[in-house]
Amino acid sequence: MIPKLLNPGPVTLTSRVRDAMARPDLCHREPEFSALQARILDRLVHVYPLAAHDYTAVLLTGSGTAAVEAMVGSLVPMGGRALVVANGVYGERMAAMLEAHGKDFKLVRADWLDPMDLVETERLLAGGGFSHVLAVHHETTTGRLNDLPALGALCRRFDVPLLLDAVSSFGGEAIDFEGWNLEACAATANKCLHGVPGVSFVIARKTVFTSRETGSRSLYLDLFRQQAEQAKGSSPFTQAVHACYALDEALAELADEGGWAARHALYLERTRLTREGLAKLDIAPLLTDPAAWSAILTSYQLPDGLSYERLHDELKRAGFIIYAGQGQFGGRMFRIAVMGDLTATDLACLLSAFDGLLQQR
Ligand SMILES: *Cc1c(COP(=O)(O)O)cnc(C)c1O
Repeated sequence: MIPKLLNPGPVTLTSRVRDAMARPDLCHREPEFSALQARILDRLVHVYPLAAHDYTAVLLTGSGTAAVEAMVGSLVPMGGRALVVANGVYGERMAAMLEAHGKDFKLVRADWLDPMDLVETERLLAGGGFSHVLAVHHETTTGRLNDLPALGALCRRFDVPLLLDAVSSFGGEAIDFEGWNLEACAATANKCLHGVPGVSFVIARKTVFTSRETGSRSLYLDLFRQQAEQAKGSSPFTQAVHACYALDEALAELADEGGWAARHALYLERTRLTREGLAKLDIAPLLTDPAAWSAILTSYQLPDGLSYERLHDELKRAGFIIYAGQGQFGGRMFRIAVMGDLTATDLACLLSAFDGLLQQR
């Protein structure tokens, strides 16, 4: 039995997306690849239709972290200063990227169980001197959907552009490009878009590329270099052609199914079913405030007397891959994501596997 993936990406593929990878072998210097790449870039900026006019997409071969690092490294200028607002692994990782790239920044770190510290953020922004604010939309560490409307309003008020890690939310949660003063967001093929790992992307304001020099110290992860080539129908380096086939098909499938809002509604329903089923077994979410929950992933407290390893292995035998806690949460919780090709029957089987396991405990 091939287990269903309930980890936060990669996801279980639909057969439509899987079959797309068997399209003809293709050289990335041929016009057929140019057309494929151009179609993907166009589909990406149309996932959020209001963004299509003012933003452009840049496709990168690499996992989600490559896109985040390209965004952070290229768009925060050499002499700039970033304000990183973090409450989990991925926010702290953006600070580590700035450090690695030798860029000046201030980190506003909240406890991983807490919301972003917007009081301190406001105080620092009021003091001035920041070129960018950096934040994570959906903090996959805990499954918290960060309060971007509030942070975005601060970015607007203080006129500081926002760079957003939307890796685990793009295609599954609302993104207000204008309202949040978004300069760019980074995401990947293999989470809410239901493609395969291998390609990721940045969606950035078009004017960035005509009004500034690159801030990149990386040759490969230089968004400006990548964008200039892709705008001409080319690509500076070999793209993951088969992953592009899959992403193209996954984006067509998303549009056919009604776009991001329909997918969001589907995730909400799957998450509700799972959460209510687990609540009946006395398994509670780690985040106690329902307003913080994303549609995509929920962290749960490990039931007493059950180790993560045992839970993982038993559920794997029953046909499901769940996900461990990161860092300080290792051994204390588990995570369930509801992206990818899943049915209501799958979720019912998952809940009955939990039930069986708890009976034997
Ligand atoms: C998955 C994820 C990433 C990137 O992870 P990769 O393993 O590089 O694809 C970045 N940020 C968030 C919030 C994520 O969930």
